[in-house]
Amino acid sequence: MNKILGHEHVRTAFGLALQGERLHHAWLLYGVKGIGKASLAEQLAALFLCESPDMQNRQACGQCHSCAMFHAGSHPDVSKVERLYDSKKKKFNRDINIAQTREALDFLALSGLKSKRRVLMVDGADLMNNQAANALLKGLEEPTEGSLLLIVCHDLMRLPATIRSRCMMQACSPLNKADMTQVLAQQGLDEQLVPLTTDLGQGSPGRVASLLDGQHAQALRAWQDMLTDLQHSDIGLMRKWLDKHVKDIPHDLIANMVLSAVQSDLQEAQSWQKSSTVYDALVSVASWPKEVVRHTLRPAPALLAYILQLRSALKIRV
Ligand SMILES: [Zn+2]
Repeated sequence: MNKILGHEHVRTAFGLALQGERLHHAWLLYGVKGIGKASLAEQLAALFLCESPDMQNRQACGQCHSCAMFHAGSHPDVSKVERLYDSKKKKFNRDINIAQTREALDFLALSGLKSKRRVLMVDGADLMNNQAANALLKGLEEPTEGSLLLIVCHDLMRLPATIRSRCMMQACSPLNKADMTQVLAQQGLDEQLVPLTTDLGQGSPGRVASLLDGQHAQALRAWQDMLTDLQHSDIGLMRKWLDKHVKDIPHDLIANMVLSAVQSDLQEAQSWQKSSTVYDALVSVASWPKEVVRHTLRPAPALLAYILQLRSALKIRV
C-alpha cells in the first residue's frame, strides 16, 4: 500500500484522541477536491478498528485480521455512503438520498450490540439532499457506543450548520510541493510530466489524475511542445489536437497549460500597456472553461479563438 502523504495534523489529533480514549464520535474532514480526504478517512477508519495499532506513527498495523478484512473491502464493521451510480442512466445520481443515510445509520446503531466498534464513512457529504442531511443529524445526536462517523466534504457551506456544529471539524490543506511530487511519482506518473503537473495540480493530485493515463500523458506532452513557442506554433496542428482530445482531457488542464506557457512572457513584458494586452488575452483563455459549460458541443473552436488572440497579443508585445 502506498504511504499516505499530507494531513499530518489530522492524523495526530485523531491518534491522540484515540489513544487517550476521548475520541469524538463524528469527524468532519473538509478541504478542496482531490487532496486525499477520502483516503485519509479510510486510513483513520483502519486505525480505529486495528487490533494492534502503531500508535507512535498513528497507523493501522496492516497485518491483523481486522486490517486484512479492511483492505479486502470486506470488513463487517465498515460501511460507506456515497453518491450511487445509476447503471441504467449511465451516470451518477444527483445526490445522496435519505434511504442511503437511514440504512447506514441503522448499520452504525448496531455498534456496541453486534460489534464492539463500527465505522461509517460519508464521502461527498455536501451531496446529501435535505432529507438525507436531517436523517444524518439524528445519528449525530444519538451516537451509540463504539460508533465512529467520518464525514468527508469539500463544500463545507452546503452542510447544515447543525451537522457542522456536532462534528470535530478538521480542515485538510492541499499537499505541499514535496508531498505532491512524491504522490505523483508513487502513482506512476510519466517522469517528464512531474514538474509541470506539480504546478498544475496546486497541491491536489486528484486535479491531475487524468494524466496518469499513458495516452493522456503522451497527448499532453505533445500539447506542451506546441505551447513552448506559441507565436510560431502550427495552428492547424493545435486544432487537430483539440478536436481529438478535448473530450477526454479536462478542460482546465488544457487551458492552464496555455496559461503557464506564456506566464514568463508576461512577467518579462517591459511596459504595463504591452503586458496588459497579453494579460487580457490570458484572461480569455482562463475564462474558456465557463464557455465550455455553455457550449459543450463545440469547445475546441472557442479555445482556438482565444489562443489566436493570445498569439497576436504576444506579437504586439514583442
Ligand atoms: Zn491491524
